[in-house]
Amino acid sequence: MSRLALVRDLKFRDHTTPDTHPESPARLVAIDKMLKSKALDDKFKQLTPRAASEEELSSVHSPAYIETLKKNAEVAEKRNSLIKLDGDTYMGPETYETAKLAAGAGLVAVESVNDDIHDCSFVAVRPPGHHALKNKPMGFCLFNNIAVATRHAQTKLNAKRVMILDWDVHHGNGTQAMFYDDPSVLFFSLHQYPFWPYDTGWFMEDGKGEGRGFNVNIPLPKGTGDRGYFSAFDQIVKPVTAEFQPDLIMVSAGYDAHEMDPLSQQRVTTLGFAMLSQRLADLRDMTGAKVVCFLEGGYNTQSLSESALATMQILNAQDAQEAGQVQTSYVIPDVVSGQNPISSDKSPEQVDERVLEVRKHFSKYWGNLR
Ligand SMILES: [Zn+2]
Repeated sequence: MSRLALVRDLKFRDHTTPDTHPESPARLVAIDKMLKSKALDDKFKQLTPRAASEEELSSVHSPAYIETLKKNAEVAEKRNSLIKLDGDTYMGPETYETAKLAAGAGLVAVESVNDDIHDCSFVAVRPPGHHALKNKPMGFCLFNNIAVATRHAQTKLNAKRVMILDWDVHHGNGTQAMFYDDPSVLFFSLHQYPFWPYDTGWFMEDGKGEGRGFNVNIPLPKGTGDRGYFSAFDQIVKPVTAEFQPDLIMVSAGYDAHEMDPLSQQRVTTLGFAMLSQRLADLRDMTGAKVVCFLEGGYNTQSLSESALATMQILNAQDAQEAGQVQTSYVIPDVVSGQNPISSDKSPEQVDERVLEVRKHFSKYWGNLR
């Protein structure tokens, strides 16, 4: 039995977007191809998603919002065309059903790790979720998949303390909003800053009421590179997680901080993502928490598929030696052959300064940071 279960379904390709849109079915086609080419298709236990019910979605979304999307889907179906919901978020005839299935895939994943069948799960879905708000779609996202699954794990399963780690290059504004005053959910977001969405993501947004200190934004300067991400992880994420002791670690695993990604400038390499994934596996082993990763962004199909696979392989590794072999195999991915696998920072001092500044701010809430 594999340590990692993979939730996927061909139906996630049914959500369509305009031809030139970066969030396209080709992203999942690339991941499926990469799994096949590395002969990993059978290595991970495959789970089939189910659609989230409207009741399950309403744990974080308003019934009126769910109803609006349903009506839009009917219009898209009648016209057999795409409907533009905001500047860059679209619905096609199949989108509503696909989005419910994406949210439901997370429910299947948390149920599977809750039952101790697996340590970890990777939910390879689209549309993504972390920008979706209670009443509003945003940034390619309709339902907040990770938030729906977090609430399900807390109310229907055994998880009490949930940590959400969002390493997508964009701030996880939707997830932040949903748990902002809730001390049972510790939220970290490592993101390029300043960057879209421009009105959220600064570290002074640290929670509200009893949730103060449980919303940890780590806004990283443009060009941060692998080393800066490791530093943010080691200096802030790891010690705070050790103190919080989560039962469940949920990851908004976007791969758009990759150096090949067309939407950002963060310069993380495939090896960098493998090493971040190793840090995630270390947190799992340190706390005994289960891990569920949700695919969010990542718009270069090559770097997305390689990096997502690196995460799956590292989480599935039985021991450090096997994980090390996975990392070694990603040192010089074919695609960046001849390049330095760890990108050097454009502005290392600025990154170090920012990490220290954030650490200092949160030291008033977390003893491990003092
Ligand atoms: Zn993103």
